[in-house]
Amino acid sequence: MNDDCIFCRIVAGELPSRTVHEDDETLAFLDANPLAPGHTLVVPKAHHEHVEDMDGETAAAVFETLHGLVGPVQDAVDAEGSTIAFNNGEAAGQEVPHTHAHIVPRFEGDGGGPIHAVAGSRPSLADGELDEIRDDISERV
Ligand code: AMP
Ligand code: ZN
Repeated sequence: MNDDCIFCRIVAGELPSRTVHEDDETLAFLDANPLAPGHTLVVPKAHHEHVEDMDGETAAAVFETLHGLVGPVQDAVDAEGSTIAFNNGEAAGQEVPHTHAHIVPRFEGDGGGPIHAVAGSRPSLADGELDEIRDDISERV
């Protein structure tokens, strides 16, 4: 537990939350400043700042909770879909440095955008550059 982390403090029961699911490894609760009714956060109980910091077992537990919650969240608020995302790192807009998945219920005509809208303008990449990026990623996996 990180004493300075608000999500660790929620996990520890020191701060209140509207919890919708809890198991040994994960907690899910309503976002305090929701983008839509039913906006839910899924966190690992252990403190990890980024997605890539989680061990595989913890990451699998987070995804399992996410998988089990998307349907109930959407049904509870009669949503027609949802945007499921992590703000991973400050550059991506992460404000709370304890990794968490957002489930944001979506409705036709809600005025929101798709995930394609979150980055800046699309880069123009030549075939050679794309090949190099593919190689750089695959060599590191
Ligand atoms: P992010 O930018 O991905 O780090 O988003 C952090 C999210 O946590 C925001 O949507 C906040 O509204 C939400 N949040 C911050 N504090 C709390 C809290 N005490 N309980 C529930 N949600 C919170
Ligand atoms: Zn934490």
